[in-house]
Amino acid sequence: MSRTVECRGCGAPMVFARTGRGAKIPLDAVPSSAGTYVLENEDTSNPTTYRMTDPAYTGPRYTSHFQTCPKASDFSKKRGSGDVA
Ligand SMILES: [Zn+2]
Repeated sequence: MSRTVECRGCGAPMVFARTGRGAKIPLDAVPSSAGTYVLENEDTSNPTTYRMTDPAYTGPRYTSHFQTCPKASDFSKKRGSGDVA
């Protein structure tokens, strides 16, 4: 299993994964049918992720925790970037 961390805002388990651009984003540790991210190398200490683009993909899909966290607004305040969506 990959290492999970608890969200400081809501306590949900998350996995930090590196995107193709090198940024790290938190994904919900629990896959979701509504997810749009594919997680790779999740058994390592350096998991990576990318947006699912293949409609034939049937593996587990993950959601960005920024989209599901009830405290997400706290994050954007800290980041000072305003609304991302
Ligand atoms: Zn959270």
